[in-house]
Amino acid sequence: MDNYDEKNIFNKILNKEIKCKEIESDEYTLSFEDINKQAPVHALIIPKNKYKDFSSFSKNASDKEIANFCRSIFSVAKKKGILNNGYRIIINCGPDSNQEVPHLHAHVLGGKNLGPMLC
Ligand code: 5GP
Repeated sequence: MDNYDEKNIFNKILNKEIKCKEIESDEYTLSFEDINKQAPVHALIIPKNKYKDFSSFSKNASDKEIANFCRSIFSVAKKKGILNNGYRIIINCGPDSNQEVPHLHAHVLGGKNLGPMLC
C-alpha cells in the first residue's frame, strides 16, 4: 500500500524476525518499548497492517483500525502510569519530520517534564 517498504525494521518486528519488548498487542496494533529511549517512558505504537506513514494510514485504514490505534496510545499511557502527570505523542511523517522508519508509529513519551515541544 502506498509504496510500503517490506524491509523496514518494524515490519521485521511484526514478522518476528527481530525481537521487541512488547507492552501490548491486539488484532490491529502492537505496542513496544523504543530501543533508544528519549524519556523514562518511551513507547512505540504501530498498526499491524502495512502503512508507511500517517498520511497513508489516514487515507487507507478502516475506521476500526484508526479508532484502535488511538485507543492503544491511551492504553499504553495508562499502563505506563503517565496519565496523571501527562505525556507527549509524536508522529513523524515524511522527510521534513525526519521519520526514520517507514512504517507508521506513534511515540508516547513521559515520566518527566519533557520541556519545550521543539528544541
Ligand atoms: P522515527 O524517527 O521514525 O519517528 O522513529 C523511529 C524510532 O524507532 C526511534 O525512536 C528509534 O529509536 C526506534 N527504533 C529503531 N530501530 C528499532 C528497533 O529495532 N527496535 C525498537 N524497539 N525501536 C527501534
